[in-house]
Amino acid sequence: MILIPTEAEYAINKLIKNGYDAYLVGGFVRNSLMGIDTTDCDITTSATPDEVINVFKDLKVVKTGIKHGTVTVIKNNIPLEITTFRIDENYTDNRHPESVIFTKSIRDDLARRDFTVNALAYNKEKGLVDEFGGIDDIKNSVLRAVGNAAERFNEDALRIMRAIRFSAVLGFEIEPKTKAAIFEFKDLLLNVSSERIFSELVKLIMGKNAADVICEYHEVLEVILPEIKGMAGFDQQAPHHIYDVLKHTAVALQKTEATKHLRLAVLLHDCGKPQCFSTDKNGVGHFKGHPELSAKKAKQALCRLKADNETVLNVVRLIAHHDDAIPLTEAGVKRALNSLTVQGFFDLIKLKKADNLAKGDLAKFRLSEAERLYEIGKKVIDENQCFSLKQLAIKGDDLIALGIPRGKKLGDTLEALLDAVIDGRVENDKNKLIEYLKNHIA
Ligand code: ATP
Ligand code: MG
Repeated sequence: MILIPTEAEYAINKLIKNGYDAYLVGGFVRNSLMGIDTTDCDITTSATPDEVINVFKDLKVVKTGIKHGTVTVIKNNIPLEITTFRIDENYTDNRHPESVIFTKSIRDDLARRDFTVNALAYNKEKGLVDEFGGIDDIKNSVLRAVGNAAERFNEDALRIMRAIRFSAVLGFEIEPKTKAAIFEFKDLLLNVSSERIFSELVKLIMGKNAADVICEYHEVLEVILPEIKGMAGFDQQAPHHIYDVLKHTAVALQKTEATKHLRLAVLLHDCGKPQCFSTDKNGVGHFKGHPELSAKKAKQALCRLKADNETVLNVVRLIAHHDDAIPLTEAGVKRALNSLTVQGFFDLIKLKKADNLAKGDLAKFRLSEAERLYEIGKKVIDENQCFSLKQLAIKGDDLIALGIPRGKKLGDTLEALLDAVIDGRVENDKNKLIEYLKNHIA
């Protein structure tokens, strides 16, 4: 039922032979029972870190988190995280345990874990160790805190984010008491580091059940992402919209491939809408300027959450352009490829598709527009057509040789030539470009 990877089995057997207790634990056991492939495997043992180091003295050992009892043993290039059974004590600031006590009891170790489905251990000798009803909870698709949920969230508030993340990823319902504690203590998330929050947020929005979780737990997300406040229940009052801003966002997210920057872009693409709302004389809602405002708010949010620069750049660019009306012509597409980059252009099409799949039938024609943009873009790329200065058959140095001075004029001339090539007024050929320059630009 549970297939232990060879290296982990070796480590567990060796610890047991040396007189210690050792099990696979946590996500690996949970996922195995659910039939989900997992590479990460955590081992828990009664041996102290020094004893683990001693048992594996013939292997490479890295003291990854020795203070908390974790060492990483490398076997056949596979890292194995081995952590001593422990009890976490004296949490400060709803974050980290001040001290950990090593214990010889697997039950104590499982009791410190966040959710029953994560508090399962397994080895071949003893089979599954299930002290808190994790197996039943997996069977019933329920996420439940180990012990008293309120206390557990007060010890470490990140568990609040982890709860809704697991619900989104595993598709589990959160048990009522755990759910009540999530809402009661959600503000404690403000005490948790941005890095830990962001890592959970990304996993959450990648989840197969993310849309439901975003709608049901938006008040929790608003604590760490105040930029999305006001979206829930915001009636768009437009004939092509069938959902409020939040539901639209959630549905669009679920229609987007699970790539980090795409899903982040969808999550935040309309967050500026509530502030940009106006109605015309017919009572129809408009959101003038919302892509720019959403992009600005997204940048602020992602920087605060310490997202990497590349992610910020990609997400902000997509949001700023999500409503752009790119002409359905080769020239229009080439200009978009130039300004957005190739990846940015094709990502934008994915975003546009997801956005319009989350609207009513009146927006259907936008889907075929997106499809058409894709076809034109693909043709331009396949035919290696020129859309950027990098591809232009004439370079700055050529123009300098022709007597054009360095500086703004040089740049403007190159841009004018690229424009002419994109419009098909001249071929992308050096001699033809020089001739064109003499006759039309110089
Ligand atoms: P994933 O599939 O995301 O790796 P996981 O369950 O393995 O899920 P990890 O963050 O790798 O999650 O943590 C490994 C195990 O450590 C968890 O299954 C859980 O038992 C325990 N754990 C992790 N973080 C916490 C926490 N904040 N509080 C209590 N227990 C935790
Ligand atoms: Mg894990």
